[in-house]
Amino acid sequence: MTNPVLPVIENCEGCSACCQRTPVPPFEPGEEAAHDVPESALQLIRDRISRDEQFELLPCVWLNPLNGLCRHYELRPQACRDFSPGSQLCRLCRDDEGVR
Ligand code: SF4
Ligand code: SF4
Repeated sequence: MTNPVLPVIENCEGCSACCQRTPVPPFEPGEEAAHDVPESALQLIRDRISRDEQFELLPCVWLNPLNGLCRHYELRPQACRDFSPGSQLCRLCRDDEGVR
């Protein structure tokens, strides 16, 4: 059996599938302080956590739903920086969100 040829995913343009499935910025403990994240951005995270919603299906509180971009891109966690377009996890997120 031959493996299917997967499409090349070179960048995130028109996507945001991974952010759609990450309810809060995935900071490691203490990482926010290293990034010097402002209070207003931290409050969004605290509010989401305190509401205790069904995290796994919610978009990130830092995601701008109007343009699909991170509101605090320059402050995003290392985990977001390391998430590679075209990786297996990327493809899974895109598939789950119906991004073609
Ligand atoms: S799922 Fe992949 S292509 Fe889409 S925004 Fe995330 S890294 Fe980029
Ligand atoms: S890139 Fe921004 S919007 Fe996307 S998951 Fe990370 S912090 Fe949230």
